[in-house]
Amino acid sequence: MPTPPHAIGFTLDPLDRMSEKRDDEQFVASLRDDPATRFLLFVNNVPLFKRAAGHDPLFDAREAALLGAPRQSVLLGRDADGRALFAHALDASADSVADALPSNPVEAIELRPVAMQGLVAPALGSALGEARSMLDWHRRHGFCANCGTPTTDAGAGWRRVCGKCDAQHFPRVDPVVIMLVADGERCLLGRQKQFLPGMYSALAGFVEPGETFEHAVYREVLEEAGIRCTEVTYYASQPWPFPSSLMIGCFARALETELTVDMNELEDARWFSREEVAAMLDGTHAQGLSAPKPFAIAHHLLKAFVDGPVTG
Ligand SMILES: [Zn+2]
Repeated sequence: MPTPPHAIGFTLDPLDRMSEKRDDEQFVASLRDDPATRFLLFVNNVPLFKRAAGHDPLFDAREAALLGAPRQSVLLGRDADGRALFAHALDASADSVADALPSNPVEAIELRPVAMQGLVAPALGSALGEARSMLDWHRRHGFCANCGTPTTDAGAGWRRVCGKCDAQHFPRVDPVVIMLVADGERCLLGRQKQFLPGMYSALAGFVEPGETFEHAVYREVLEEAGIRCTEVTYYASQPWPFPSSLMIGCFARALETELTVDMNELEDARWFSREEVAAMLDGTHAQGLSAPKPFAIAHHLLKAFVDGPVTG
């Protein structure tokens, strides 16, 4: 089994989350007041950046206050420099904050293109991903799933509690298996309608309740491509904060090769040779077909396949 690379997006230099300190209100307040602390600010799930020099998402307390009071705050953790980072959701609009700071324009830019284009350092991309998932969860879980009463946040933003029925609600993570199915020298790739023209990727799907990752792989490959597979092996995982997926990268070995593609799920699926996948990764495919960029775990699954045997 190849070693996972260290360049998968949203996985690099994770913060020290200090999870054991989340209920220590004095400690959390002291971090909030620490001049070294920085704030990642979001408007409608979109991060804000200071644009005077590049794309800087780190606002100090004074700058954050100029942009408006937070509707939601989450302690993300401490970075490699020892600074605490908080995520704040603002009630403001992107237009209203654009000129809030003297001589430093503020711009709201969706996280996906920011991450894909490498506009921030990888460690900051990981923190922004954590922040986006957390703030989106708060935005969509303001009411108790048990009794319907509005909930309040607790634990430095890491849970919501219901004052009526005492239920506690925790942020969700949705596991998605993404699998490269190989048949010796060929691998199975598909394309969804919303992919860029000519791009193919590994098949993927949500894990359902009661399933193991292996069973989810078997089911998804059978549903989408009509083939049975075996020998599922784990490769690496990737948080994918749109809104809260965890991509579980796997390899599997095909037991049969005749495809029956589910055209509701996929626009196309077919077998690709090692040479063809190598050309797609390099951008030199004769028909202009392409593969996901290095930011996505699918790229690394394909690269591992190109570089050597991945099953058996
Ligand atoms: Zn309740």
